[in-house]
Amino acid sequence: MVDNLQACGVFGSEEASLSERAFPAPASDERKPFERDRDRVVQARAFRRLAGKTQVFTSRASDHFRSRLTHTIEVAQVARQVAGALGLNVDLAETLALVHDIGHPPFGHAGERALDECLRAHGLRFDHNLHALRIVERFEQRYAGHRGLNLTLGAREGIIKHSRDYSVAGHPDLAEYFLDKQPPLEAQLIDLADEIAYLTADLDDGVESGLLDVRHIRENVSILRRSYEGVEWAHPAAEEKYVFHDALQAMQKTLVMDLIRTTRENVAEVGARSLEDIRKCGRRLAVFSPQAEAERMEEKRYLYDTLYTCTALDLEHSKAGEVVTELFNFWVNEPEELPEAYFAEIESEGLARVVADYIAGMTDNFILLQYADVRRKVRSGKAPLPARR
Ligand code: MG
Repeated sequence: MVDNLQACGVFGSEEASLSERAFPAPASDERKPFERDRDRVVQARAFRRLAGKTQVFTSRASDHFRSRLTHTIEVAQVARQVAGALGLNVDLAETLALVHDIGHPPFGHAGERALDECLRAHGLRFDHNLHALRIVERFEQRYAGHRGLNLTLGAREGIIKHSRDYSVAGHPDLAEYFLDKQPPLEAQLIDLADEIAYLTADLDDGVESGLLDVRHIRENVSILRRSYEGVEWAHPAAEEKYVFHDALQAMQKTLVMDLIRTTRENVAEVGARSLEDIRKCGRRLAVFSPQAEAERMEEKRYLYDTLYTCTALDLEHSKAGEVVTELFNFWVNEPEELPEAYFAEIESEGLARVVADYIAGMTDNFILLQYADVRRKVRSGKAPLPARR
């Protein structure tokens, strides 16, 4: 088995087109194409706004909860580690990790669900991967010579394909992204890096919030239990909170090492020797082993049952849904209340999509200010009451 999968990675030799951009970048720059992509993502306004978006918990209750930005940095850490160990293109993997959540609306998954429901009523859907593509291609207007971040084709392909596949028939608009082929390994591993990061972080934040209990986690989450027992054995006198933290790190390491090992084994098994071989393969090769996958699912179910759907967060979720829905309906009914730049897009993009674009870009704080403002206008009779769902 080959440890280093460099020949199967994105280095420009097999598919030079992946480092191409819609607008040529200045040649005097010393950076490689994907390094430049990474730097453009980090400097994007949408990237900075991730600091104000909920991951699972809003920051009001504790300064230590992950925001979508700190979650993103943790995903980048895992992605770099995995890509580096496999000899893949670390810059591309890091870029894709840093941009992977850039299309998320405010209020975490509750906000996304609400926005999707609003759009369904207009025959549309909200998809955060496709929205991320709209952000990097359209909404980041920071450069004199072009609209968008002008990322490479490889980065744009990874943005839409890292976590799901899109059919050629269903998405003719995405034809340039090799929809009938697998994405490169650098993109395939992002979804798993995301899983590893949030499975670790959500247990941590869940305990910090007081909604989860370490003993209960140990009883129900096998992978954490094993890590915990190992740390406990090595440090029998340590306080529970430190054992738990070390156990989380050990659990993360177990998943990272499993992903690295299983990806290597899969590439060897199918005999892939180039990026084209990875693309032609009928399945994704960057995956967990069956045992790690079963334990991942067990933990994910546990987080759903005990945390994501718990009564304490339920209230926040329904409030989030209410804010998104009321604002969406308000601007759909009163489009002239939209900022000028968004109003100008209605003709080409359609009103419902433009309102969703505007809302999706907001931070938690900004959308609450907008909500208060709209409510004030409605109360003072300057605007009609937004229709409720
Ligand atoms: Mg994520």
